[in-house]
Amino acid sequence: MDDCIFCKIAAGTIPVKKLGEDDHVVAFPDLNPQAPFHALVIPKLHIASLNDVRDPMIMGQLYGMAGQLARSNGFDKTGYRTVINTGPDAQQTVFHVHLHVLAGRQMTWPPG
Ligand code: 5GP
Ligand code: ZN
Repeated sequence: MDDCIFCKIAAGTIPVKKLGEDDHVVAFPDLNPQAPFHALVIPKLHIASLNDVRDPMIMGQLYGMAGQLARSNGFDKTGYRTVINTGPDAQQTVFHVHLHVLAGRQMTWPPG
């Protein structure tokens, strides 16, 4: 999608430090990190939000990459949080579905 920032990141038009990539997804650091480790995992195909996911395989691909990032950075031992914000109440700001992977500090619950 032409005016989507995450499509541009997925296509390499906007360069990022890739933390992980496979045929289906790309992971990169969040611009405004909310934890010592804060990655975003996105599908290479444009999907605006979780509301628009039709192929459930994509969720396995996103979460598979999140688990891989956690293991390779040692957070499988200490813990980490994965979050998908969907729509206004959840304050979704970028409408290309993305999985936040947050780690490296004690999380609180409930989330804000
Ligand atoms: P949302 O609120 O939609 O769940 O999260 C969007 C996230 O994307 C935010 O955490 C924000 O910091 C991040 N973000 C927005 N624009 C960019 C960008 O151009 N590059 C990167 N790396 N992250 C971005
Ligand atoms: Zn997109």
